[in-house]
Amino acid sequence: MNPASWVERNARQRPDRPALAEGEQVHSTWAGWAATVAAVAGGLRTGFGLAPGDRVAIVMRNRPEYLETLFAVWHAGLVAVPVNARLHREELAYILGHSAAAVVLTDEEHADDVRSLVGEVASLRAAVVAPGEAWTRLVAAPAAPLATLRPLDPAWLFYTSGTTGRPKGATLTARNLLMASLSYFADIDPVSAQDAVLHAAPLSHGSGLYGLPHVARGAVSVVPRSGGVDGAEIAALLQRWPGTSFFAAPTMVKRLAGDAAVAAVARDHLKTIIYGGAPMYLADLEDALEVFGPRLAQIYGQGETPMTITALSKADHADRDDPRWRARMQSVGTPRTDVEVRVVDDEDRELPAGEPGEIVVRGDVVMAGYWDDPAATAETLRGGWLHTGDVGSFDADGYLTLRDRSKDLIISGGMNIYPREVEEALLTHPGVRAAAVVGRPDPEWGEAVVAFVVADGEAAPPPADLDRTCLDRIARYKRPKEYRFVDALPTNNYGKVVKRELRQRLRDEPGSAFLNG
Ligand code: AMP
Repeated sequence: MNPASWVERNARQRPDRPALAEGEQVHSTWAGWAATVAAVAGGLRTGFGLAPGDRVAIVMRNRPEYLETLFAVWHAGLVAVPVNARLHREELAYILGHSAAAVVLTDEEHADDVRSLVGEVASLRAAVVAPGEAWTRLVAAPAAPLATLRPLDPAWLFYTSGTTGRPKGATLTARNLLMASLSYFADIDPVSAQDAVLHAAPLSHGSGLYGLPHVARGAVSVVPRSGGVDGAEIAALLQRWPGTSFFAAPTMVKRLAGDAAVAAVARDHLKTIIYGGAPMYLADLEDALEVFGPRLAQIYGQGETPMTITALSKADHADRDDPRWRARMQSVGTPRTDVEVRVVDDEDRELPAGEPGEIVVRGDVVMAGYWDDPAATAETLRGGWLHTGDVGSFDADGYLTLRDRSKDLIISGGMNIYPREVEEALLTHPGVRAAAVVGRPDPEWGEAVVAFVVADGEAAPPPADLDRTCLDRIARYKRPKEYRFVDALPTNNYGKVVKRELRQRLRDEPGSAFLNG
Protein backbone atom coordinates (compact mmCIF):
# COMPACT_ATOMS: atom_id res chain seq x y z
CA MET A 1 0.00 0.00 0.00
CA ASN A 2 1.58 3.24 -1.17
CA PRO A 3 0.37 6.32 0.77
CA ALA A 4 0.77 8.33 -2.43
CA SER A 5 -2.16 6.34 -3.85
CA TRP A 6 -4.37 8.38 -1.51
CA VAL A 7 -3.47 11.54 -3.39
CA GLU A 8 -4.26 9.88 -6.74
CA ARG A 9 -7.56 8.57 -5.41
CA ASN A 10 -8.65 11.96 -4.08
CA ALA A 11 -7.75 13.52 -7.42
CA ARG A 12 -10.32 11.21 -9.03
CA GLN A 13 -12.98 11.56 -6.35
CA ARG A 14 -12.79 15.29 -5.67
CA PRO A 15 -10.45 16.89 -8.23
CA ASP A 16 -11.50 20.48 -7.61
CA ARG A 17 -11.66 20.45 -3.81
CA PRO A 18 -8.85 22.14 -1.85
CA ALA A 19 -6.08 19.68 -0.99
CA LEU A 20 -3.24 21.87 0.21
CA ALA A 21 -3.44 25.33 1.71
CA GLU A 22 -0.90 27.89 2.73
CA GLY A 23 -2.59 29.83 5.49
CA GLU A 24 -6.02 30.93 4.31
CA GLN A 25 -5.10 30.52 0.64
CA VAL A 26 -5.64 27.33 -1.36
CA HIS A 27 -2.25 26.21 -2.69
CA SER A 28 -3.60 23.36 -4.80
CA THR A 29 -6.64 21.22 -5.47
CA TRP A 30 -6.43 17.42 -5.36
CA ALA A 31 -6.00 17.32 -9.13
CA GLY A 32 -3.18 19.85 -8.84
CA TRP A 33 -1.49 18.07 -5.96
CA ALA A 34 -1.64 14.72 -7.75
CA ALA A 35 -0.14 16.24 -10.90
CA THR A 36 2.71 17.83 -8.92
CA VAL A 37 3.39 14.60 -7.02
CA ALA A 38 3.58 12.51 -10.22
CA ALA A 39 5.80 15.09 -11.95
CA VAL A 40 8.22 15.53 -9.03
CA ALA A 41 8.37 11.74 -8.73
CA GLY A 42 9.27 11.53 -12.41
CA GLY A 43 11.86 14.30 -12.04
CA LEU A 44 13.49 12.58 -9.07
CA ARG A 45 13.67 9.22 -10.82
CA THR A 46 14.88 10.36 -14.23
CA GLY A 47 16.52 13.72 -13.47
CA PHE A 48 18.70 12.33 -10.68
CA GLY A 49 18.79 8.71 -11.74
CA LEU A 50 17.24 7.47 -8.50
CA ALA A 51 16.10 3.87 -8.09
CA PRO A 52 13.42 2.48 -5.75
CA GLY A 53 14.68 2.38 -2.18
CA ASP A 54 17.05 5.36 -2.60
CA ARG A 55 16.80 7.98 0.13
CA VAL A 56 15.60 11.55 -0.38
CA ALA A 57 15.97 13.88 2.58
CA ILE A 58 13.72 16.85 3.33
CA VAL A 59 15.18 19.76 5.28
CA MET A 60 12.46 22.38 5.11
CA ARG A 61 10.33 24.34 7.43
CA ASN A 62 6.62 23.55 7.15
CA ARG A 63 5.40 24.64 3.72
CA PRO A 64 3.21 23.12 0.98
CA GLU A 65 6.28 21.96 -0.98
CA TYR A 66 7.14 19.78 2.01
CA LEU A 67 4.02 17.68 1.54
CA GLU A 68 4.37 17.75 -2.24
CA THR A 69 7.87 16.33 -1.87
CA LEU A 70 6.95 13.74 0.75
CA PHE A 71 4.22 12.18 -1.37
CA ALA A 72 6.32 12.48 -4.56
CA VAL A 73 9.07 10.48 -2.87
CA TRP A 74 6.62 7.68 -2.10
CA HIS A 75 4.98 7.94 -5.52
CA ALA A 76 8.44 7.26 -6.98
CA GLY A 77 9.07 4.29 -4.64
CA LEU A 78 11.82 6.17 -2.79
CA VAL A 79 12.40 6.50 0.95
CA ALA A 80 11.75 9.83 2.66
CA VAL A 81 14.10 11.16 5.34
CA PRO A 82 12.24 14.10 6.90
CA VAL A 83 14.85 15.86 9.02
CA ASN A 84 14.17 18.29 11.82
CA ALA A 85 14.96 21.54 10.03
CA ARG A 86 16.17 23.28 13.17
CA LEU A 87 19.15 21.01 13.62
CA HIS A 88 22.68 22.32 13.50
CA ARG A 89 24.59 21.90 10.21
CA GLU A 90 26.77 19.19 11.74
CA GLU A 91 23.71 17.24 12.87
CA LEU A 92 22.22 17.51 9.39
CA ALA A 93 25.51 16.26 7.94
CA TYR A 94 25.37 13.26 10.25
CA ILE A 95 21.81 12.31 9.30
CA LEU A 96 22.27 12.82 5.56
CA GLY A 97 25.48 10.79 5.69
CA HIS A 98 24.04 8.06 7.88
CA SER A 99 20.95 7.60 5.72
CA ALA A 100 23.17 7.89 2.59
CA ALA A 101 20.65 10.35 1.16
CA ALA A 102 21.09 10.86 -2.59
CA VAL A 103 19.11 14.09 -2.94
CA VAL A 104 17.94 16.64 -0.42
CA LEU A 105 15.00 18.98 -0.84
CA THR A 106 15.27 22.21 1.10
CA ASP A 107 14.06 25.83 1.19
CA GLU A 108 15.71 29.24 0.98
CA GLU A 109 16.10 29.45 4.76
CA HIS A 110 18.26 26.31 4.92
CA ALA A 111 19.79 26.49 1.45
CA ASP A 112 23.28 27.68 2.49
CA ASP A 113 23.85 24.94 5.02
CA VAL A 114 22.31 22.24 2.88
CA ARG A 115 24.08 23.21 -0.37
CA SER A 116 27.39 23.23 1.48
CA LEU A 117 26.85 19.56 2.36
CA VAL A 118 26.83 18.45 -1.30
CA GLY A 119 30.44 17.39 -1.75
CA GLU A 120 30.93 16.87 1.96
CA VAL A 121 28.37 14.08 2.35
CA ALA A 122 29.61 11.42 -0.07
CA SER A 123 26.20 10.03 -1.07
CA LEU A 124 24.61 13.41 -1.76
CA ARG A 125 24.25 14.20 -5.47
CA ALA A 126 22.14 17.33 -5.33
CA ALA A 127 20.26 19.84 -3.22
CA VAL A 128 17.02 21.22 -4.61
CA VAL A 129 15.69 24.47 -3.18
CA ALA A 130 11.89 24.80 -3.23
CA PRO A 131 10.53 27.07 -4.46
CA GLY A 132 13.29 27.83 -6.97
CA GLU A 133 14.51 26.99 -10.47
CA ALA A 134 15.44 23.37 -9.87
CA TRP A 135 12.10 22.81 -8.14
CA THR A 136 10.24 24.38 -11.06
CA ARG A 137 12.02 21.93 -13.38
CA LEU A 138 10.96 19.03 -11.15
CA VAL A 139 7.34 20.15 -11.15
CA ALA A 140 7.42 20.31 -14.97
CA ALA A 141 9.00 16.84 -15.41
CA PRO A 142 7.13 14.05 -17.18
CA ALA A 143 4.92 12.19 -14.71
CA ALA A 144 6.04 8.87 -13.26
CA PRO A 145 3.55 6.05 -12.68
CA LEU A 146 2.72 5.20 -9.07
CA ALA A 147 5.37 2.82 -7.75
CA THR A 148 4.58 -0.32 -5.80
CA LEU A 149 5.45 -0.20 -2.12
CA ARG A 150 5.36 -3.61 -0.49
CA PRO A 151 4.39 -3.87 3.20
CA LEU A 152 7.97 -4.18 4.45
CA ASP A 153 9.53 -1.62 2.13
CA PRO A 154 11.02 1.31 4.05
CA ALA A 155 9.06 4.52 3.50
CA TRP A 156 10.16 7.00 6.18
CA LEU A 157 13.40 7.11 8.14
CA PHE A 158 12.44 8.83 11.36
CA TYR A 159 15.55 10.17 13.06
CA THR A 160 14.91 10.40 16.77
CA SER A 161 14.83 13.89 18.22
CA GLY A 162 18.13 13.46 20.01
CA THR A 163 17.35 14.20 23.65
CA THR A 164 19.88 11.41 24.17
CA GLY A 165 23.02 10.55 22.22
CA ARG A 166 23.46 10.33 18.43
CA PRO A 167 20.24 10.29 16.39
CA LYS A 168 19.12 6.88 15.18
CA GLY A 169 16.94 6.34 12.11
CA ALA A 170 13.82 4.38 12.97
CA THR A 171 12.98 2.60 9.72
CA LEU A 172 9.24 2.96 9.16
CA THR A 173 7.81 0.71 6.50
CA ALA A 174 4.79 1.24 4.28
CA ARG A 175 2.87 -1.07 6.62
CA ASN A 176 3.91 0.92 9.69
CA LEU A 177 2.54 4.12 8.14
CA LEU A 178 -0.67 2.39 7.14
CA MET A 179 -1.19 0.95 10.63
CA ALA A 180 -0.51 4.33 12.27
CA SER A 181 -3.09 5.91 9.96
CA LEU A 182 -5.75 3.23 10.45
CA SER A 183 -5.37 3.27 14.20
CA TYR A 184 -5.85 7.04 14.14
CA PHE A 185 -9.36 6.33 12.82
CA ALA A 186 -9.83 3.56 15.36
CA ASP A 187 -8.66 5.36 18.49
CA ILE A 188 -8.42 9.11 17.94
CA ASP A 189 -10.99 10.43 15.48
CA PRO A 190 -12.89 9.67 12.32
CA VAL A 191 -11.89 12.04 9.50
CA SER A 192 -13.96 13.24 6.55
CA ALA A 193 -13.27 15.18 3.35
CA GLN A 194 -14.88 18.22 5.00
CA ASP A 195 -12.15 18.35 7.66
CA ALA A 196 -8.73 19.98 7.80
CA VAL A 197 -5.41 19.19 9.41
CA LEU A 198 -3.27 22.10 10.50
CA HIS A 199 0.49 21.64 10.51
CA ALA A 200 1.50 23.95 13.32
CA ALA A 201 4.15 21.51 14.64
CA PRO A 202 7.08 20.23 12.56
CA LEU A 203 6.08 17.99 9.63
CA SER A 204 9.20 15.92 10.27
CA HIS A 205 7.59 14.58 13.45
CA GLY A 206 4.11 13.87 14.82
CA SER A 207 2.37 16.49 12.72
CA GLY A 208 3.58 14.83 9.51
CA LEU A 209 2.54 11.40 10.71
CA TYR A 210 -0.91 12.55 11.75
CA GLY A 211 -1.24 14.31 8.42
CA LEU A 212 -1.45 10.91 6.73
CA PRO A 213 -4.93 9.81 7.85
CA HIS A 214 -6.18 13.22 6.79
CA VAL A 215 -4.74 12.83 3.32
CA ALA A 216 -6.23 9.34 3.21
CA ARG A 217 -9.71 10.78 3.75
CA GLY A 218 -9.40 13.80 1.48
CA ALA A 219 -9.26 16.46 4.21
CA VAL A 220 -7.34 19.63 3.37
CA SER A 221 -3.76 19.97 4.71
CA VAL A 222 -3.13 23.50 5.96
CA VAL A 223 0.34 24.91 6.58
CA PRO A 224 0.38 28.18 8.54
CA ARG A 225 2.25 30.95 6.69
CA SER A 226 4.35 31.66 9.75
CA GLY A 227 5.42 28.00 9.68
CA GLY A 228 4.64 27.71 13.38
CA VAL A 229 2.38 28.64 16.25
CA ASP A 230 1.02 32.15 16.27
CA GLY A 231 -2.20 32.61 18.24
CA ALA A 232 -3.83 35.21 15.98
CA GLU A 233 -2.94 33.23 12.86
CA ILE A 234 -4.28 29.98 14.28
CA ALA A 235 -7.50 31.70 15.33
CA ALA A 236 -7.96 32.98 11.76
CA LEU A 237 -7.20 29.55 10.29
CA LEU A 238 -9.69 27.82 12.57
CA GLN A 239 -12.38 30.10 11.17
CA ARG A 240 -11.26 29.69 7.57
CA TRP A 241 -10.96 25.88 7.77
CA PRO A 242 -13.78 24.37 9.83
CA GLY A 243 -13.26 20.94 11.35
CA THR A 244 -9.56 21.53 11.95
CA SER A 245 -7.45 19.11 13.97
CA PHE A 246 -3.79 19.49 14.82
CA PHE A 247 -0.97 17.84 16.70
CA ALA A 248 0.74 19.90 19.39
CA ALA A 249 3.31 19.42 22.10
CA PRO A 250 1.97 20.18 25.61
CA THR A 251 3.91 23.46 25.70
CA MET A 252 2.07 24.59 22.56
CA VAL A 253 -1.30 23.58 23.98
CA LYS A 254 -0.57 25.60 27.08
CA ARG A 255 0.43 28.63 25.02
CA LEU A 256 -2.66 28.44 22.80
CA ALA A 257 -5.00 27.94 25.75
CA GLY A 258 -3.68 31.21 27.14
CA ASP A 259 -4.26 33.07 23.87
CA ALA A 260 -7.43 35.16 23.87
CA ALA A 261 -7.85 35.09 20.06
CA VAL A 262 -7.69 31.29 19.97
CA ALA A 263 -9.94 30.94 23.01
CA ALA A 264 -12.61 33.11 21.37
CA VAL A 265 -13.08 30.83 18.35
CA ALA A 266 -11.89 27.38 19.45
CA ARG A 267 -15.17 26.00 20.73
CA ASP A 268 -16.98 26.81 17.49
CA HIS A 269 -14.33 25.76 15.01
CA LEU A 270 -11.81 23.35 16.47
CA LYS A 271 -12.28 19.62 15.99
CA THR A 272 -9.41 18.03 17.93
CA ILE A 273 -6.02 18.83 19.39
CA ILE A 274 -3.88 15.75 19.64
CA TYR A 275 -1.22 16.40 22.24
CA GLY A 276 1.66 14.26 23.36
CA GLY A 277 5.38 13.72 23.04
CA ALA A 278 6.02 14.97 26.57
CA PRO A 279 4.13 15.03 29.86
CA MET A 280 1.21 17.43 30.16
CA TYR A 281 0.72 18.47 33.72
CA LEU A 282 -2.72 18.22 35.21
CA ALA A 283 -3.04 21.91 36.02
CA ASP A 284 -2.25 22.84 32.40
CA LEU A 285 -4.60 20.20 31.07
CA GLU A 286 -7.44 21.50 33.22
CA ASP A 287 -6.84 25.02 31.89
CA ALA A 288 -6.80 23.72 28.32
CA LEU A 289 -10.05 21.78 28.81
CA GLU A 290 -11.63 24.93 30.21
CA VAL A 291 -10.79 26.79 27.00
CA PHE A 292 -11.18 24.09 24.34
CA GLY A 293 -13.83 21.87 25.89
CA PRO A 294 -13.49 18.12 25.39
CA ARG A 295 -11.62 18.48 22.11
CA LEU A 296 -8.36 17.10 23.39
CA ALA A 297 -6.91 13.63 22.87
CA GLN A 298 -3.56 12.56 24.25
CA ILE A 299 -1.25 10.14 22.53
CA TYR A 300 1.84 8.42 23.81
CA GLY A 301 4.19 7.12 21.19
CA GLN A 302 7.67 7.42 19.82
CA GLY A 303 9.31 7.51 16.41
CA GLU A 304 9.99 3.80 16.70
CA THR A 305 6.26 3.00 16.78
CA PRO A 306 5.05 6.10 14.99
CA MET A 307 2.99 7.96 17.56
CA THR A 308 1.10 4.77 18.41
CA ILE A 309 1.40 3.12 21.83
CA THR A 310 -1.52 4.39 23.92
CA ALA A 311 -4.16 7.11 23.73
CA LEU A 312 -6.32 8.98 26.18
CA SER A 313 -9.41 9.59 24.11
CA LYS A 314 -11.65 12.63 23.85
CA ALA A 315 -14.30 10.58 25.65
CA ASP A 316 -11.88 9.96 28.55
CA HIS A 317 -11.23 13.70 28.77
CA ALA A 318 -14.97 14.42 28.77
CA ASP A 319 -15.82 11.89 31.48
CA ARG A 320 -15.34 14.29 34.38
CA ASP A 321 -17.88 12.60 36.63
CA ASP A 322 -15.78 9.48 36.83
CA PRO A 323 -14.17 9.38 40.29
CA ARG A 324 -10.94 8.25 38.63
CA TRP A 325 -10.90 11.22 36.25
CA ARG A 326 -7.92 13.04 37.82
CA ALA A 327 -5.76 9.92 37.87
CA ARG A 328 -6.74 9.16 34.29
CA MET A 329 -5.82 12.63 33.13
CA GLN A 330 -2.34 12.02 34.52
CA SER A 331 -2.09 8.76 32.60
CA VAL A 332 -1.37 8.27 28.90
CA GLY A 333 -4.52 6.20 28.43
CA THR A 334 -5.02 2.69 27.11
CA PRO A 335 -3.21 0.64 24.42
CA ARG A 336 -3.97 1.46 20.81
CA THR A 337 -5.99 -1.03 18.78
CA ASP A 338 -3.05 -2.25 16.72
CA VAL A 339 -0.48 -2.91 19.48
CA GLU A 340 0.14 -5.07 22.50
CA VAL A 341 1.68 -3.14 25.38
CA ARG A 342 3.32 -4.66 28.43
CA VAL A 343 5.28 -3.48 31.44
CA VAL A 344 8.29 -5.69 32.14
CA ASP A 345 11.16 -6.06 34.60
CA ASP A 346 14.89 -6.10 33.77
CA GLU A 347 14.58 -9.63 32.47
CA ASP A 348 11.58 -8.89 30.28
CA ARG A 349 9.15 -10.64 32.62
CA GLU A 350 5.68 -9.13 32.55
CA LEU A 351 4.80 -7.20 35.71
CA PRO A 352 1.34 -7.05 37.28
CA ALA A 353 -0.76 -3.87 37.37
CA GLY A 354 0.58 -1.32 39.82
CA GLU A 355 4.23 -2.25 39.43
CA PRO A 356 6.43 0.07 37.38
CA GLY A 357 8.79 -1.29 34.76
CA GLU A 358 9.89 -0.69 31.20
CA ILE A 359 7.12 -0.30 28.63
CA VAL A 360 7.46 -2.68 25.67
CA VAL A 361 5.34 -2.75 22.53
CA ARG A 362 4.57 -5.28 19.78
CA GLY A 363 2.51 -4.90 16.62
CA ASP A 364 2.48 -4.11 12.92
CA VAL A 365 3.11 -0.42 13.58
CA VAL A 366 6.49 -1.07 15.26
CA MET A 367 9.50 -0.09 13.13
CA ALA A 368 11.49 -2.63 11.15
CA GLY A 369 14.62 -1.57 13.04
CA TYR A 370 17.19 1.24 13.14
CA TRP A 371 18.65 2.11 9.78
CA ASP A 372 22.10 0.62 9.33
CA ASP A 373 22.44 -0.18 13.02
CA PRO A 374 21.99 -3.90 13.65
CA ALA A 375 23.33 -3.73 17.20
CA ALA A 376 20.89 -1.04 18.35
CA THR A 377 18.09 -2.84 16.47
CA ALA A 378 18.79 -6.17 18.17
CA GLU A 379 18.97 -4.52 21.57
CA THR A 380 15.81 -2.43 21.18
CA LEU A 381 13.69 -5.11 19.48
CA ARG A 382 14.89 -8.04 21.60
CA GLY A 383 12.41 -10.86 21.98
CA GLY A 384 10.22 -9.28 19.29
CA TRP A 385 9.19 -6.37 21.52
CA LEU A 386 10.11 -2.72 21.12
CA HIS A 387 11.81 -1.59 24.34
CA THR A 388 10.74 2.01 24.69
CA GLY A 389 13.13 3.09 27.46
CA ASP A 390 10.09 4.57 29.21
CA VAL A 391 9.08 3.49 32.68
CA GLY A 392 5.41 3.15 33.50
CA SER A 393 2.76 1.10 35.21
CA PHE A 394 -0.75 -0.03 34.37
CA ASP A 395 -3.61 0.47 36.78
CA ALA A 396 -6.26 -2.15 37.39
CA ASP A 397 -8.42 -0.73 34.56
CA GLY A 398 -5.64 -0.92 31.99
CA TYR A 399 -4.64 2.76 31.95
CA LEU A 400 -0.91 3.29 31.60
CA THR A 401 0.88 5.98 33.59
CA LEU A 402 4.37 7.05 32.62
CA ARG A 403 6.67 7.33 35.56
CA ASP A 404 9.57 8.58 33.49
CA ARG A 405 12.14 7.63 30.95
CA SER A 406 14.28 4.95 32.57
CA LYS A 407 17.37 7.12 32.30
CA ASP A 408 15.65 9.95 34.16
CA LEU A 409 15.08 7.81 37.20
CA ILE A 410 16.78 9.18 40.30
CA ILE A 411 18.05 6.76 42.89
CA SER A 412 18.66 8.41 46.23
CA GLY A 413 19.50 6.50 49.35
CA GLY A 414 18.51 3.30 47.55
CA MET A 415 15.03 4.62 46.83
CA ASN A 416 13.71 5.07 43.30
CA ILE A 417 12.37 8.53 42.63
CA TYR A 418 10.49 9.33 39.45
CA PRO A 419 11.05 13.03 38.72
CA ARG A 420 7.61 13.42 37.20
CA GLU A 421 5.93 12.93 40.57
CA VAL A 422 8.05 15.64 42.16
CA GLU A 423 7.39 18.00 39.24
CA GLU A 424 3.64 17.38 39.50
CA ALA A 425 3.80 18.26 43.18
CA LEU A 426 5.79 21.45 42.63
CA LEU A 427 3.46 22.59 39.86
CA THR A 428 0.53 22.68 42.23
CA HIS A 429 2.21 25.66 43.94
CA PRO A 430 0.82 28.89 42.46
CA GLY A 431 4.31 30.45 42.43
CA VAL A 432 5.72 27.76 40.12
CA ARG A 433 5.36 28.13 36.37
CA ALA A 434 7.60 25.25 35.31
CA ALA A 435 9.79 22.71 37.03
CA ALA A 436 12.29 20.04 36.03
CA VAL A 437 13.73 17.63 38.52
CA VAL A 438 17.05 15.81 38.07
CA GLY A 439 19.55 13.89 40.16
CA ARG A 440 22.90 15.37 41.24
CA PRO A 441 25.73 13.02 42.22
CA ASP A 442 25.88 13.01 46.00
CA PRO A 443 28.54 11.39 48.18
CA GLU A 444 26.07 10.40 50.85
CA TRP A 445 22.91 9.50 48.96
CA GLY A 446 24.23 8.41 45.58
CA GLU A 447 22.09 11.07 44.01
CA ALA A 448 20.30 14.05 45.46
CA VAL A 449 17.07 15.46 44.06
CA VAL A 450 17.49 18.96 42.61
CA ALA A 451 14.56 20.98 41.28
CA PHE A 452 15.06 23.64 38.62
CA VAL A 453 12.15 26.00 39.03
CA VAL A 454 10.78 28.81 36.89
CA ALA A 455 8.86 31.16 39.16
CA ASP A 456 5.46 32.47 38.12
CA GLY A 457 5.75 36.16 38.93
CA GLU A 458 8.44 38.48 40.26
CA ALA A 459 9.51 36.74 43.41
CA ALA A 460 10.60 33.14 43.70
CA PRO A 461 8.52 31.21 46.23
CA PRO A 462 10.45 30.50 49.45
CA PRO A 463 12.00 27.01 49.42
CA ALA A 464 10.29 26.22 52.70
CA ASP A 465 6.94 26.76 50.95
CA LEU A 466 7.92 24.45 48.14
CA ASP A 467 9.03 21.86 50.67
CA ARG A 468 5.66 22.07 52.35
CA THR A 469 3.90 21.66 48.99
CA CYS A 470 5.94 18.53 48.28
CA LEU A 471 5.54 17.11 51.75
CA ASP A 472 1.79 17.57 51.37
CA ARG A 473 1.78 15.39 48.28
CA ILE A 474 4.69 13.01 48.04
CA ALA A 475 6.91 10.94 50.31
CA ARG A 476 9.52 12.86 52.30
CA TYR A 477 12.48 11.19 50.61
CA LYS A 478 11.31 12.45 47.23
CA ARG A 479 11.36 16.11 48.08
CA PRO A 480 14.15 18.18 46.51
CA LYS A 481 17.26 18.73 48.54
CA GLU A 482 17.81 21.92 46.64
CA TYR A 483 15.85 24.42 44.54
CA ARG A 484 17.47 26.33 41.70
CA PHE A 485 15.52 29.25 40.32
CA VAL A 486 16.03 29.83 36.61
CA ASP A 487 14.44 32.10 33.99
CA ALA A 488 13.67 29.24 31.62
CA LEU A 489 14.26 25.52 31.25
CA PRO A 490 16.42 24.33 28.36
CA THR A 491 14.22 22.71 25.69
CA ASN A 492 14.94 20.99 22.40
CA ASN A 493 13.29 21.87 19.08
CA TYR A 494 10.20 19.90 19.93
CA GLY A 495 9.68 21.70 23.20
CA LYS A 496 10.92 18.90 25.46
CA VAL A 497 12.98 19.83 28.48
CA VAL A 498 16.54 18.63 27.95
CA LYS A 499 17.36 17.20 31.36
CA ARG A 500 20.75 16.08 30.19
CA GLU A 501 21.73 19.75 30.06
CA LEU A 502 20.52 20.36 33.61
CA ARG A 503 22.44 17.33 34.88
CA GLN A 504 25.54 18.54 33.08
CA ARG A 505 25.17 21.98 34.69
CA LEU A 506 25.23 20.35 38.11
CA ARG A 507 28.16 18.11 37.28
CA ASP A 508 30.18 21.06 35.99
CA GLU A 509 30.07 22.78 39.35
CA PRO A 510 33.38 22.80 41.24
CA GLY A 511 32.00 21.07 44.33
CA SER A 512 30.93 17.99 42.40
CA ALA A 513 34.19 17.54 40.47
CA PHE A 514 35.46 14.74 42.69
CA LEU A 515 32.39 12.72 41.85
CA ASN A 516 32.82 12.85 38.12
CA GLY A 517 35.69 10.44 38.09
P1 AMP B 1 10.07 10.90 20.06
O1 AMP B 1 10.47 9.60 19.48
O2 AMP B 1 11.03 12.01 19.80
O3 AMP B 1 8.67 11.26 19.70
O4 AMP B 1 10.09 10.76 21.65
C1 AMP B 1 9.28 9.78 22.24
C2 AMP B 1 9.33 9.90 23.73
O5 AMP B 1 8.61 11.04 24.18
C3 AMP B 1 8.67 8.72 24.41
O6 AMP B 1 9.52 7.61 24.47
C4 AMP B 1 8.32 9.30 25.77
O7 AMP B 1 9.45 9.32 26.62
C5 AMP B 1 7.97 10.74 25.41
N1 AMP B 1 6.51 10.86 25.24
C6 AMP B 1 5.79 10.62 24.14
N2 AMP B 1 4.48 10.82 24.36
C7 AMP B 1 4.35 11.18 25.65
C8 AMP B 1 3.24 11.51 26.49
N3 AMP B 1 1.99 11.52 26.04
N4 AMP B 1 3.50 11.83 27.78
C9 AMP B 1 4.77 11.83 28.24
N5 AMP B 1 5.85 11.55 27.51
C10 AMP B 1 5.65 11.21 26.22
